[in-house]
Amino acid sequence: MNHLVEFYGKCGLSDEAFHGFSRIPAKNVFSWTIMITSCVQHNHGHLGLKLLRQMEVEGVMADDFTYSSILGAFTTQESLDQGKFVHACIVSEGFGHGAIILTALCSMYGKCGSIELARDAFDAMPCHDSASWNSMIAAYAHHGHEKEALQLYYQMWKDGVRPTDMTFTAILRACSSPDALEHGRDIHAHITDGGFGSDIVKTALVSMYGNCGSLEEAQQAFQEIYRHDIVSVNAMLGAYIQNDRGRDALQLFGQIWERRLEPTCITYATALSACSLLGAIAKGKAIHMMIIEEGFESMNVVATAVVSMYGKCGGLADAWTVFNRIIVGRDCIAWNAIIAAYAQNGDDQMALHLFKQMEKDAVKPDGVTYLNVLLVCSYTGSLEDAHGYFDSMVRDHAIEPNPRHYACMIDLCGRAGLIDEAENFLKKMPFEPDAVVLTAFSGACRLQGDIARGKWAAERLIKLDPHADYPYIMLSHFYAAEGRWLDVADVRKKMEQNVKNKAGRSWIEVDDKFHEFVSGDGSHPRTREIYSLLNRLNDEMKRLRYSPEDTIDEGSKEHILYYDSEMLAIAFGLLTVPPGKQIRVFKNLQVSPDCHAATKSISRIVGRDIIVRDSNLFHHFTNGICSCGNYS
Ligand code: ZN
Repeated sequence: MNHLVEFYGKCGLSDEAFHGFSRIPAKNVFSWTIMITSCVQHNHGHLGLKLLRQMEVEGVMADDFTYSSILGAFTTQESLDQGKFVHACIVSEGFGHGAIILTALCSMYGKCGSIELARDAFDAMPCHDSASWNSMIAAYAHHGHEKEALQLYYQMWKDGVRPTDMTFTAILRACSSPDALEHGRDIHAHITDGGFGSDIVKTALVSMYGNCGSLEEAQQAFQEIYRHDIVSVNAMLGAYIQNDRGRDALQLFGQIWERRLEPTCITYATALSACSLLGAIAKGKAIHMMIIEEGFESMNVVATAVVSMYGKCGGLADAWTVFNRIIVGRDCIAWNAIIAAYAQNGDDQMALHLFKQMEKDAVKPDGVTYLNVLLVCSYTGSLEDAHGYFDSMVRDHAIEPNPRHYACMIDLCGRAGLIDEAENFLKKMPFEPDAVVLTAFSGACRLQGDIARGKWAAERLIKLDPHADYPYIMLSHFYAAEGRWLDVADVRKKMEQNVKNKAGRSWIEVDDKFHEFVSGDGSHPRTREIYSLLNRLNDEMKRLRYSPEDTIDEGSKEHILYYDSEMLAIAFGLLTVPPGKQIRVFKNLQVSPDCHAATKSISRIVGRDIIVRDSNLFHHFTNGICSCGNYS
């Protein structure tokens, strides 16, 4: 009977298992343990606990295996207290020292997020097998303690314990930022040398390289997978999204059916992210239809991804419809998606109204909610409201502001002419200013003509990221404002030497085909026509005495018209999109103030509606005016 119960349990037939179990006349410790394990493995932890108590009532003594399997029922932060309680019972029964129990404790505390207690259990073991190493490494990796995870991993090698697939999936997870790429490669070498390359491990390699920003290596690892399943395809899709390669992601998504795989909700959510990146609303709609057919729309995660896609592609009405279909369990993430949709599309009133509605529905906001709300204040320039929200976030919801929240406040202060207050925000941050914050501050200084502080910020930015072009451009503006032309030339030279092509990309969809332009591009077949059109527009702008809001020199102003990817894409749109239709251009970076001013002028000169979606929001240019009210 025990074997029968175990068989049903392993096949996931809980009812049959339970039926068999109840017919065992004299249940021994094995019977109980098998039944408890089956409950825990199929997410019925509470039932497992009940059985444990009943077992004690019926006078059967639990053993190491019973306890270690019940510990598997606690896997979230919320269940930590229950886990601690069972731990106490185990100790009082005198079972606290066995290797099996300690490994289960280490794993349980790790999953519940109590790293110290996990480590206590780990350290209490007289010797470690691969299971205990894996539990501890996974605990560190899952909770952002990458350094400790790596230390432990190398220690494991030193101790001569053979790693398993679990070890590698856990440790590769710890290497998921560009700084960790070298460690990731190191581990990859161990995998290859030791012959550990199972498909599960290779899938973890795909994700690791994707997260570290090395797409070529991710593709390489993906190709080396022996039998692709949907998990490995999802990993590759994720890697494409991480690296801003929406089109490649959609191509791979299209192959899923050829590969005879069954897409999961993660697959669909990732494909929608690809559409969001590209602004490909038609494709996004098609995927949405597939989602409805497959019955995935009822899953809130997927519906939220649909809302977010429509928001980012400018399909506000569809975003709203789908949001309203999420009825049960509308969580913070779903609200964030709809608030962001309205904010990005310039409907500030509605975005704020929805925020209030969310509070009324008693859904607890998070940092992302407040970031959206602060961005709305940013677009409308209402510093006072922003102050209110910022304070309420900290006071009422105990949310720690992150650099992006501070950047919003600094930007707002800057545009209100309050550079001192902007600097105060910079000083009161509990961490070193990062690129986001410094960019906001230097932008504020540029707007207010505060050369000294602006230079300081731009120089720090260059130190932080010498390969980005923005800080050099800022610094040269500040030098130009002081008339220090030699320094301007010097900065430009440094920029040419250091800036790797992180430069802007813009694209436009014409007749179902994407045309992409890189800044300074001359590769498009219609380049000649594009540049000659820009030439004419430039002359026209000069004639209209177009003057950007800032103080840059004539030279660089004209340069922008010929250089920026956005201008190239707009010119191509003017050449190809029939009159009367909107020109919709997408850009991977934020629209620069100079391009913003130039696009405004162009919309007036040619009398066309131009929409530019940058990394933040939609700019709708009509007759010399932008919907964003000059936010850029
Ligand atoms: Zn705008």
